[in-house]
Amino acid sequence: MSNPKSKFNVAVVGAGIAGLSCATRLQALGFQVQVYEKSRGPSGRMSTRNGDGWSADHGAQYFTARDPLFIEALNTWIKAGVAAAWHPRLNVYEANQWHESTSKDSRYVGVPAMNSPGKYLADKLSIECNQTIDKIYQQHGKWFLHSLESGDITQSFDYLVLAIPAPQASALAKSVDHSMEAFCSSVHMQGCWTLIARLSEKANIPFDAAFINNEIISWISKNNSKPGRTGQETWTIHANPQWSQQWIELDKEEAKQLILESAKKLGLDCAKAEIAIHRWRYASGAIHAEMGFIFNADSKLSLCGDWLNGGRVEGAWLSGYQLASAINISATTLNP
Ligand SMILES: Cc1cc2nc3c(=O)[nH]c(=O)nc-3n(C[C@H](O)[C@H](O)[C@H](O)COP(=O)(O)OP(=O)(O)OC[C@H]3O[C@@H](n4cnc5c(N)ncnc54)[C@H](O)[C@@H]3O)c2cc1C
Repeated sequence: MSNPKSKFNVAVVGAGIAGLSCATRLQALGFQVQVYEKSRGPSGRMSTRNGDGWSADHGAQYFTARDPLFIEALNTWIKAGVAAAWHPRLNVYEANQWHESTSKDSRYVGVPAMNSPGKYLADKLSIECNQTIDKIYQQHGKWFLHSLESGDITQSFDYLVLAIPAPQASALAKSVDHSMEAFCSSVHMQGCWTLIARLSEKANIPFDAAFINNEIISWISKNNSKPGRTGQETWTIHANPQWSQQWIELDKEEAKQLILESAKKLGLDCAKAEIAIHRWRYASGAIHAEMGFIFNADSKLSLCGDWLNGGRVEGAWLSGYQLASAINISATTLNP
């Protein structure tokens, strides 16, 4: 017997963890799902940079798992070997002093890289990468997409999911749903300057990661302390969100110098390191009330992502999952 849900096509724009979670759940429920991603690969801000003999997570550093549904998903990733617990020696810097963190949180990372869970999910989905969706429109109840790289996409869709940060969702919603556009553009997301330092010699630092308060830098961590990492010692340094946002348009070289000075003050001298710098324009930020997702049952246009659900990896995954359930209820009503 054919599955009635397979009559419904869904396009998911964005292959971050929210889009991947939504697409995975929809596919499991019997929908035909097509994902479009503007980057070369999936995983969005759960990202990793690689080079010859080194790698570094330069977006999300670790994630926590509190919701039973997310714990269940995490356990499947752990079983598949694409995630594991990370037990860093964790310090805190405040008021010019270091102390050990008292945090009891269990922390998890992708293995061997932060983008591994995303790749694992993406392997089971139909995804087109290098497709920047720059226009959406609806005709006769069907959604149509236009891509910057390929022009008009011939397939039409019953449901459209925008699993992208609020400012990018706002730009797409502009021509089709003014209240959705206004809502998305009211969300304030902050940037983040990130440095990756590849050290020529191992650093003599008595911790693996640290939260830094009241400095330009807010986080440093040794990638090699995470499970499954091999190769040259690399450290990821995040500037704090407020400073990053204030100086987001700074020239990369100037931002690099200021962050390196701050790192040196904290004991990480990168004078002999090879440095890469990345400017995240939409790193963090979320609406105050955790709505989970937004679904317009009339137009069948919907939104999911971390910014609708607390602003972290777990919230993003749950947002996509919960939206898929809402779409399923809507489809069941149309096609009981
Ligand atoms: C520097 C940094 C540090 C962080 N640290 C942590 C941490 O330690 N712990 C934690 O839990 N979270 C952390 N986060 C947040 C975490 O990474 C996010 O909450 C989560 O990954 C967001 O997933 P998402 O799917 O909602 O969005 P994203 O990961 O941003 O996915 C959106 C995807 O959509 C794509 N896209 C955008 N526009 C288009 C378009 N027009 N067409 C096609 N594709 C498009 C993007 O390329 C991207 O792949 C951090 C984030 C950053 C940047």
